[in-house]
Amino acid sequence: MKAVRVSTPGGIEALQIADVPEPVPGPGELTLEVKAASVNHLDIWVRKGLPVAKYPIILGADAAGVVKETGRRALLSPTLSCGTCEFCASGEKPLCVKYVILGEHRDGSQAERICVPAENLIPIPDTLSFEEAAAAPLVYLTAWRMLISRGRLAPSEDVLIWSAGAGVGVACLQLARLTGARVVATASTDEKCERLKELGAHFVLNHAREDVPKRIRELTSKRGMDVVVDYIGKDTWVKSLQCVRRGGRVVTCGATSGYDPAEDLRQIFFRQIEIIGCTMGNNKELLDALRPIFEGRIRPVIDRVFPLSEVAAAHRRLEERAACGKIILKP
Ligand code: ZN
Repeated sequence: MKAVRVSTPGGIEALQIADVPEPVPGPGELTLEVKAASVNHLDIWVRKGLPVAKYPIILGADAAGVVKETGRRALLSPTLSCGTCEFCASGEKPLCVKYVILGEHRDGSQAERICVPAENLIPIPDTLSFEEAAAAPLVYLTAWRMLISRGRLAPSEDVLIWSAGAGVGVACLQLARLTGARVVATASTDEKCERLKELGAHFVLNHAREDVPKRIRELTSKRGMDVVVDYIGKDTWVKSLQCVRRGGRVVTCGATSGYDPAEDLRQIFFRQIEIIGCTMGNNKELLDALRPIFEGRIRPVIDRVFPLSEVAAAHRRLEERAACGKIILKP
């Protein structure tokens, strides 16, 4: 079967459309016939090379399709864990040292078929397209844990989301709106700012042109935001510390512009800021995050759909930060 594979990490040229052996289900596993798989920033990190990733590897954490053995439509839960350590036992699966993310530690979803444990396949309603279902798991899971479980966003609060046009940003915006919080979103172009307004942001700032900390002081009468969502890292981190209120929370699940910002620790201790690190989530958080999607209260936003063979174009679009919403590949 065809799959997107990386044998040796590198640039766009490291992406191979490879003929790989058919996957064989192990004990307790089922086969998903992939109808749509989404592209995440994680794929770019794995393609460029991660010490924890195993190579060669098939990329992709997200997919939706039909379960070969049962004929049911389903989406893929992107993570596995040991199930027995202290963290797994207490429901904190993402802290498990044997935490496995599909497409990072084990072959992923950007292929014609994938075999996973039966509990990793979640049935989807007929009202949801395969593309929408494939767009959902990783980003809504990440957004839910960041904003809701760990960020504790309350209806009376203000939240700032940097680069909210990214997949996880759109998910944060939609989930924040569901809680009733006031949302300030940023983007790098006026076109994306318009789109974020349509998606429900109360205020939109063009971070390429506007002084975001200054605008936040104006918008909040100098108070600052209760919660700031930052997965950009180096380019925005210091500004995030300036935008958050005294005693507020800065949540992070990534660092797409670099992971070594020059931060002023005095900002953190004198202003008693809480820094919350997050990655993925547990099974309950995934089901909680998917519920509003299954009920039609949120629709995942699709940026573009490419054939699997055009994965290079998908990576370019993501790296140029040109997308608003999720990029989908069709095998
Ligand atoms: Zn464990």
